Amino acid sequence: MSYEIIIKNGKIIDGAGNPWYRADIGIKNGFITKIRSDMSEDADKVIDASNMVVCPGFIDAHSHTDYSLVLGHQFTRVSSFIRQGITSCVIGMCGDGLAPIPKERKEEAVEQIMKMTGLNMTIDLPWSSYEEYLKQLEKNQCAINLVPVVGYDNIRIAGGARFENREPSDEELNKMKGYLREAMEAGAFGMSTGLIYAPQIYAKTEELIELAKVLGEYNALYFSHIRGEGKTVIEAIKEVIEIVKKSGCAGGQVAHHKIAGKIYWGRSIDTLRLIEEANEDGINITCDQYPYNRGMCNLSATLPPWTREGTVEEMKNRLRDPEVRERIKNEIMEDEIDKWENIVHDDGFERIYIVSAPAERWQDIIGKNILEITKIKGFKDDWETYFELLIDDPQVTSEGQGWEDIRRIMTSRYQMIGTDGAGIPYLPSLGVYHPRFYGTYPRILGKFVREEKLLTLEDAIRRMTSFPAQRLGLRDRGLLRENTWADIVVFNPETVIDKATFENPHQFSEGILHVIVNGTIVVENNTQNRKRPGKILRRPT
Ligand SMILES: [Zn+2]
Repeated sequence: MSYEIIIKNGKIIDGAGNPWYRADIGIKNGFITKIRSDMSEDADKVIDASNMVVCPGFIDAHSHTDYSLVLGHQFTRVSSFIRQGITSCVIGMCGDGLAPIPKERKEEAVEQIMKMTGLNMTIDLPWSSYEEYLKQLEKNQCAINLVPVVGYDNIRIAGGARFENREPSDEELNKMKGYLREAMEAGAFGMSTGLIYAPQIYAKTEELIELAKVLGEYNALYFSHIRGEGKTVIEAIKEVIEIVKKSGCAGGQVAHHKIAGKIYWGRSIDTLRLIEEANEDGINITCDQYPYNRGMCNLSATLPPWTREGTVEEMKNRLRDPEVRERIKNEIMEDEIDKWENIVHDDGFERIYIVSAPAERWQDIIGKNILEITKIKGFKDDWETYFELLIDDPQVTSEGQGWEDIRRIMTSRYQMIGTDGAGIPYLPSLGVYHPRFYGTYPRILGKFVREEKLLTLEDAIRRMTSFPAQRLGLRDRGLLRENTWADIVVFNPETVIDKATFENPHQFSEGILHVIVNGTIVVENNTQNRKRPGKILRRPT
């Protein structure tokens, strides 16, 4: 017997959470066909993994790679993902996806993709149904495997309730269920919601339970970016539990679980207790998480909605008026600000950092927080700094999450890893992205395993591999066993670390040496080739 690839002398960490052992791995026809010590058979290619860890490819439980998949070959190489060891990713998260998509909505969808990516090109969306969409993704070919989940956005819009702030009629509800069934028949692994975004924000719990009952028919999962992650996080977790309980679907996944807003820090004690209790009651709830304490947005997102009406010029003029400034200040600092999520109120100026600003006059304060900028620029107070910055509306990150909550969630037994990022090509000109696009997995392995010893290496890898695989029902991935797909990462446990930062996010990590997808080498010695052996996975029936 000869093999296409043999990986020799590696420390095998099999993904199940068990301690490592030393063995060789033989790969043929896409599969791991043999695991033994001292294999002496022939192979077309031998990878020497001495002193390296060999483990299953990482399965990203939460990604937004959807747009990349329709933007051409450079994008479907998903370099930011495969270079951190990701070999499969879930798509269609936070209620957002590209199918089903009624014909009359295509133009709108293309516009949205262009806006999200900042690209200027013509693209075609030659599908309408979910099945047609998956077939198209198959044709487009991606470097890694894709795990499709249908977004509720698409279902509600296709069903006719669209962007209206009301309950759907019976007819619309039936139509929505029909579209969801179609997606499930095509192979979707479940349905996702993003309950802070329009139009999903208009969906009441009852509407979601009705739809989740369809998931129950297929024993499938409900994924949710929950209704609130700060002030209302407890109620929002309870809503997920209620939806799973009343619908009878297979389980619920809380997306990028976090406590956002300094004044709410510590609430993960309660959210994790609720998740624990639900599981004890037989309601299967899990969560995913990315290992960063900052989110990212435009500074103008902190303004009351009324100030954002009209053109950008009108907004700027308004912001120059001292009376308007006083009114905004008062509204932001009111305690009952339920109308919009607000990092100024929740986190404070000292936690808001400028990432990029279009105007020349701000180039010396990139990377600084608002307190620091007040000093550097000599403004009379932080509010003046805030309003002056707003005239140019910079991109900011805010330290919305506390490390104590992050670590508590990370060590919860219901947590698995997900990037909440997207697989994108190495193109710094695309603009500033969140570093999680490039660094999520190496950051866990370098910072939280090696440096902090918060997780053991075996446990961290389990949360990246067999746990998401089990959750999704991927029976032949996520473990290094004979007769499973050869999705494999070889990395250096002594050096693995993320390099992407908020200031400079387009940077590959260190220490991820080789990545194999379905038995094909895609990354070799830190270098990605042009192969795209990924498959579109479908929910096993
Ligand atoms: Zn989300």
